[in-house]
Amino acid sequence: MADHSEARSDQTDGDTRIDCNPKAGDVKILLVDDDVQHLESMRALLSMQGYPVDVAEGGRAAIDHLGRQAYDLMLLDLRMPGVDGLDVLRFVRACKIDLVTVVVSGQNSADDVTDALHHGADDYLKKPYQPDELLARVGNALQKQALASSNRQMRRRLERSERLHRLIVNNSPDIVFVLDQQGSFRFLNPRVTSLTGHDRRSLLGQPFLNLVKLDDHDKARYFIEQALNPRSEMRSAELQFTGSGEEGSRYFEVAVWPTPTAGQGMDGGEEDVPLIYGTARDITDRKESEAFINFQAYHDLLTRLPNRALFKDRVEVAIAHASRNNAHLAVLFIDLDRFKVINDSLGHTMGDRLLQMVAARLQNCIRKGDTLARFGGDEFTLLLTELPDADSAIQAANKIQESLKEAFVVGDHELVVGASIGIAVYPEGGDNLDALIRNADIAMYGEKVVSRNGVRVFLPEMGPTPQRLEMEQDLRRALQRDEFKLLFQPQVDSSTNRIMGVEALVRWQHPQRGLLGPDEFVPLAEDTRLIVQLDRSSLRKAAREVRAMQRHGHPGLRLSVNLSPILVQRDDFVKSVLSTLQECDFPPELLDLEITESLLMSDTDGTVRKLKALADTGIRIAIDDFGTGYSCMAYLQKLPVHTLKIDRSFTRAIGNGKMNSIEETSIVDAIVAMGLGLRMNLIAEGVETALQQDYLSRVGCKLMQGFLFGRPMPLQDLHGLKLPKSAPS
Ligand code: C2E
Ligand code: CA
Ligand code: CA
Repeated sequence: MADHSEARSDQTDGDTRIDCNPKAGDVKILLVDDDVQHLESMRALLSMQGYPVDVAEGGRAAIDHLGRQAYDLMLLDLRMPGVDGLDVLRFVRACKIDLVTVVVSGQNSADDVTDALHHGADDYLKKPYQPDELLARVGNALQKQALASSNRQMRRRLERSERLHRLIVNNSPDIVFVLDQQGSFRFLNPRVTSLTGHDRRSLLGQPFLNLVKLDDHDKARYFIEQALNPRSEMRSAELQFTGSGEEGSRYFEVAVWPTPTAGQGMDGGEEDVPLIYGTARDITDRKESEAFINFQAYHDLLTRLPNRALFKDRVEVAIAHASRNNAHLAVLFIDLDRFKVINDSLGHTMGDRLLQMVAARLQNCIRKGDTLARFGGDEFTLLLTELPDADSAIQAANKIQESLKEAFVVGDHELVVGASIGIAVYPEGGDNLDALIRNADIAMYGEKVVSRNGVRVFLPEMGPTPQRLEMEQDLRRALQRDEFKLLFQPQVDSSTNRIMGVEALVRWQHPQRGLLGPDEFVPLAEDTRLIVQLDRSSLRKAAREVRAMQRHGHPGLRLSVNLSPILVQRDDFVKSVLSTLQECDFPPELLDLEITESLLMSDTDGTVRKLKALADTGIRIAIDDFGTGYSCMAYLQKLPVHTLKIDRSFTRAIGNGKMNSIEETSIVDAIVAMGLGLRMNLIAEGVETALQQDYLSRVGCKLMQGFLFGRPMPLQDLHGLKLPKSAPS
């Protein structure tokens, strides 16, 4: 029983069986006496009972036996020569040998017995004794020994199991805690420090709420109340814990379960009150990815604005609110003008950055409760709530227009984008979500086809069919039926008063609406890409007409044609221009292609290569509306540009008596000086007065175009044209 039972108790933590009633054959007894006869009679008696017995003749032999083997019981004679009983007891104590010792003594002196008990003996038996008496003592002693050893085993198991649990608790990836009835921490594992940054010990004794973020206090309070209620089903909750110092707050899934009412407190003392055991698992990563997925579902990732779905949600809510309170709300449809051109010519990366910047600027224009959303491509929508009246929606739209006036700096480029804005006001402009959005869209297109950069409020007479669709269909039909014609405006050398060339300007002879200028349909044609067909057919017609004129007495007459950047971006651009010229037998050296500055912002090799290829055949490239856009001069050297057309707005400033005219004319001076310096041709646009003519000639710009010399007209009308007298040179 001695050693072997120890070994068994080590095996499993779950095995709690401990044998307290040893069988005779399981124990080992050592008999010690110097009297061989006595020794032999005890051995015979005990062996008869089935006990395995060893005998030691004298103290020295006893010590030998004890050193070699484990015994459960020793019957020890005190008086022995040499090494006596007390010496053996000292040895047992010194070597911490675990066995029960019954002293068998002939002396009946109480001192001897007391001495032996002091030295660690467990019991004594006086000689002479009855055999029954001996057996009874041995039985008792063995039972006592069995009990003691099973206690020791139990304690060892408990210690081991506690160590194991402590190890598990302390190394748990989750926070493990115990709360008392007041909801204060009685125990916390060290994980709380690594997950929240809080010192574990300073939290002990503090309310659970101290660890919870303020926003979640109500929720946490209710949760703890429920946790203490054994009938409650609520056993877990998601709570945010505060971080300490640098650490931000994190999300935890907290699970709790009440303990049975009586148990051992963590300090080892007895407890009679229920405790709450709990764990808190860090779910911040999961929450963040959920939040991101959620964000993604309702936001445009490029601009981080709400997307179409969220916008519709918000409008729906706002309508419900407005109808209850008889309030106004407005939906604004904001469409960027010419964004497509920029996107195509500068590439999508630049386009994306521009959109982000536009979004940020628009965001700055709105109030807190309003919702700005990216509806798609270059379309934004804005929901304005709690409007005092419809006019305040117009004011908001104007503010947006104003904010877009300043150029955006994207990389090396300064970009200007305008916006057309349509407004639908609830309830007049639509009493439900779809109607409001559709009508704002209709108003926006109504605005876009008339002029860019405008604001228009939807009116019921704008009709149920979106104007844009109608216009688009009209435009397609017009191309099929060829409802377009060209007018030509003379370009004059004012020093000689001779017509040097003509600019072809397109008109649409609309069956219902009469003659329409390019401003009324070119934007839509660009948005729908129908401009490609339109510009190609204009080039062909212009080349034919002017070629005929050249053949009839005006051999050197030049032709200027306007080209949309969308056309230039096409892969087949060069081929198609050249084949058209060939088809019409038009000399390339008499052709000027007018392109806009926006196209030139693109330093894509493609554009440079294409324009160079055309220039190599003798075609000249002119920059239209020069000075209005993205006055980045770098491209002038890089590209085969031959002509700068000074924009009408600069010409108009000459001599108009306005305060800023000095400033404006100094721009004209600068452009002319620069153009001459770069050995470029200069043409001033929009010359309407003799004063402007004089000024321009004086600063060195000889070529002019404008109403002073002639409006756009059918080509044959040029014959009868009377030019004003030439400017003094
Ligand atoms: P642009 O190339 O700057 O054309 C000059 C515009 O100024 C023309 O307007 C012309 O009528 C107007 N104009 C000329 N002289 C004067 C003047 O002395 N005073 C005033 N106030 N205006 C004058 P239009 O014909 O309405 O054309 C407008 C724009 O449409 C053109 O501006 C051009 O960018 C574009 N465009 C015209 N034809 C075509 C075409 O076939 N294809 C493309 N892609 N665009 C075209
Ligand atoms: Ca032009
Ligand atoms: Ca122009």
